Amino acid sequence: MPCFKQRIDNNHYTKEISEDKTREERRKMVQQIGCRLVLCPFPLQGHITPMLQLASILHTKGFFITIIHSNYNSPNPSNYPQFTFLQIPDGISEPEASSFDLIILINNRWETIIKDFLAKLLSEDPIACLISDPLLYCLGGVADSLLLPKIVLSSSAVLPFRAFTAFPLLRERGYLPLPIQDSRLEETVVELPPLQVKDLPGADVSHFEKFYQVVSGMVKENEMSSGIIWNSIAELEESEFTILRQEFSMPMFPIGPLHKYFPTASSSASSLLAEDRSSISWLDKQQPKSVVYVSFGSLVAISETEFLEMAWGLANSKQPFLWVVRPGLVHGSESLELLPKGFLENVRGMGHLVKWAPQLEVLAHPAVGAFWTHNGWNSTLESICEGVPMICMPLFADQNVNAKYVTHVWRVGLKVWNKSLERAEIETTIKKIMVENEGKEIRERMLILKEKANLCLKQGGSSYQALEELVSYISNLQCNH
Ligand code: UDP
Repeated sequence: MPCFKQRIDNNHYTKEISEDKTREERRKMVQQIGCRLVLCPFPLQGHITPMLQLASILHTKGFFITIIHSNYNSPNPSNYPQFTFLQIPDGISEPEASSFDLIILINNRWETIIKDFLAKLLSEDPIACLISDPLLYCLGGVADSLLLPKIVLSSSAVLPFRAFTAFPLLRERGYLPLPIQDSRLEETVVELPPLQVKDLPGADVSHFEKFYQVVSGMVKENEMSSGIIWNSIAELEESEFTILRQEFSMPMFPIGPLHKYFPTASSSASSLLAEDRSSISWLDKQQPKSVVYVSFGSLVAISETEFLEMAWGLANSKQPFLWVVRPGLVHGSESLELLPKGFLENVRGMGHLVKWAPQLEVLAHPAVGAFWTHNGWNSTLESICEGVPMICMPLFADQNVNAKYVTHVWRVGLKVWNKSLERAEIETTIKKIMVENEGKEIRERMLILKEKANLCLKQGGSSYQALEELVSYISNLQCNH
């Protein structure tokens, strides 16, 4: 069991352990006064949130937490007084951050700073292990050179991860980069059932080499780790975990869903944008299961034409909707200025539009009947945990793979587009899921999945068990370190 028996003040802890202690002396000291973990989130909403959730979970298990983060999208330390926050002065600016190169840029900048940063930290304060986002692929080599054990927190599901590890093979076979000839898009990828070529995590061809570089870095980072923590549930991806365990020798810890360890209302602590609470007061006035919640997460952008098709598709469906129109949802737009003339008057009383919603609370609200999502992994998992059927519109990276699972394996959602987004198709899909028999069957399957997802955290459940194993594993890592 953990070797951290008592909690003490963070500053006191730092002073207790002086620079010139030998490793053995440090080990003894840590055993006496506690274990410190250093967590490094990647500075995007969908990555910061699970890392801070993991930090909170491990803190409740008695670990001291230090968060090392970029100056870009910095989390708000005042929401986490129990953690120590250290900012890396990487100088990432807003225009740099909006480019496709953000991941490469951050790794290049951090590579030159992080080793000295961590070495200094280690010299004043023993660290049991580093827990990092594999997108920070510069960290593996640095951790190795400092003899610091490193575990990664994967913010994707297992099947997309397996697709990423197969990138060299998929490229060799001519499946990547996408799009390849239409005739091959329907081919099944034999190594990755149930994926077809069209489901592979691709990237716009003009960006493919950079995407490939990022994927290779990320896969290597996972391979170099002493363990992988998954914000996923063993029962959701049973066969995938079985294969993964055959392919990789390091321990796997599927401890998700991370957001379910705490009350829903506390989820806003990691939000980078202000949540519009009118979402909830508006939902309070709607009928049970009547509303389509529409949100495409924090990153993806659509074209102006797609935006207009969405608007008319929603209006024509005649179903109430709550639509998150975040700044940048359409490149260069602030929020609502691209809506067609007269649209807001047209949907008055039926539609509510916000820039950012308290998504977990929204999904848990009884008025919500479906979630039109881009299938980012966090959104997908959050929807499952609240039993909300999905309308899938994957756009980038792992989203296609997640959507395939939703529509073909768990069968708890419908895909809304193939090659282009059209208002008539949107209207039909919304009606199918909200009022037709197909929607009823999907809802029933979703409730069974929700049940599974919520059981895993109970005592004896798979995630509960995996967390116990993780805590004991980290404690032993530390003792051997
Ligand atoms: N989210 C939110 N309010 C919104 C839209 C999204 O709180 O209006 C949160 C959502 O709950 C999820 C995260 O932002 O935790 C988005 O992560 P996801 O992996 O779904 O997508 P990404 O933003 O990484 O593409």
